[in-house]
Amino acid sequence: MIDIKNLTIIDARAKLMKGEFKASELLEAVLANIAEKNGEVNAYLEVFEDARTQAKAADVLIESGATAPLLGIPVAIKDNMLYEGHLATAGSKILEGYKSTMTAHAVQALVNAGAIIVGRANMDEFAMGSTGENSAYGATKNPLDLNRVAGGSSSGSAAVVAMGGALGSLGTDTGGSVRTPASHTGLVGLKPTYGAVSRSGIMAMASSFDQVGPFTKTVTDAELLYSVIDKQDPEDMTSVPNDARPTAWAKSHFKIGVPEDFVNNEGIDADVRAKFKEMLAKMEAKGHKIIPVSLPTLPAALAVYYVLVPAEVSSNLARYDGVRYGVRVPGETLLDTYKNTRAEGFGEEVRRRVLLGTYVLSAGYYDAYYNKAALVRRKLTDEVAEAFKGVDVIAMPSAVSPAPKIGELSEDPTGMKMYLADILTVTANTVGVPAISVPMGTLDREGKDLPIGMQFMAPHFHEQYLFGIGREVEALR
Ligand code: GLN
Repeated sequence: MIDIKNLTIIDARAKLMKGEFKASELLEAVLANIAEKNGEVNAYLEVFEDARTQAKAADVLIESGATAPLLGIPVAIKDNMLYEGHLATAGSKILEGYKSTMTAHAVQALVNAGAIIVGRANMDEFAMGSTGENSAYGATKNPLDLNRVAGGSSSGSAAVVAMGGALGSLGTDTGGSVRTPASHTGLVGLKPTYGAVSRSGIMAMASSFDQVGPFTKTVTDAELLYSVIDKQDPEDMTSVPNDARPTAWAKSHFKIGVPEDFVNNEGIDADVRAKFKEMLAKMEAKGHKIIPVSLPTLPAALAVYYVLVPAEVSSNLARYDGVRYGVRVPGETLLDTYKNTRAEGFGEEVRRRVLLGTYVLSAGYYDAYYNKAALVRRKLTDEVAEAFKGVDVIAMPSAVSPAPKIGELSEDPTGMKMYLADILTVTANTVGVPAISVPMGTLDREGKDLPIGMQFMAPHFHEQYLFGIGREVEALR
């Protein structure tokens, strides 16, 4: 049997080309892991029926000498990505039974590159959450410790790779939803520059924050997936033409900025801080420069995020009204139908954000909340740009702790514990820069080695820096 858990995309590709195994055999090994583990982990909401047909077609192509970057590679997509003719529910009851009528640009890019789309992965409802527990279809469990969460919102996209149910996957990251689950499951997760990957065909959460990004076992695999999906798309007006993006090559020595006050924050687990410093020291010993950076507005990023994101959420989710898509709960009048459908179809966190967002956008409060947050966003963006004049990347831990236990954050009735888990990740989305999470080691928690990630941000379209520094972490950990 092929050892999927230790197989990278790069290796699998070489072995497929050499004929060591066929694409259909590779898929069977993946399907066997899914059959064994998905019942407990709840990572896949559905394994697509046509996956075997795709793999057989890849067998024929490989035999005929064809090549493509992902030919025969089994990958998963998040449940908020459209794939024509297949179900997509964004982890919500309101979209139960909804079938995509088009394919997302990023998913099409995978298909065009020869990937086998294995299935759709579980997620927090409409990508709102940090643990994967807000899915209407049940929480995803962490394959490394079933008492713990896999991280969210792209919980399933992380867990499928960690359990050997795919070699890579796509998630979406609006405020950390790729990096947090990557940190909790020992994977590499990339949040590309805003405008690098098309949002067309991705169910919108907060349109000025959302980006699609890959989950993989290694930085080089992440680079490969990114190179497939990073193409400009005229269907997304925020998608930047490839030839208008600054070119950045990875370097061998980096100037690493560290916002010291912020990473000394007590809200971050002391062992996580210690590991982070240990890795910085190793990097310094290798000749990289560690430079303190001042980002005075950083502590306000979370507040800014939780004003602006609900505002965009309340607007984007207005379309789920029981008339156009999915579930419909009829009432006496049209207004009753809207109310019934949204009350029954949306879960608690989604309703909370819609209410919050509607409030901050309402006439009397718009200036006090929405406009104020937009101004602070601008200030934070300027500070980050200023910091990048002196450093190549900015380093922080990826998450405040290793994977929390099921219920640890979600049982707080105010929702605040869940929100505070995002303090380290929301900045990259708020200012639009790319960020990566790379495993930096493990911490012992009740006898289990739980992974934790190191995070780097880089200037706009400098993903190459992230791959370069990420490989350094892989070599030093
Ligand atoms: N946890 C954050 C939130 O709930 C991030 C979600 C995301 O990136 N989709 O908003």
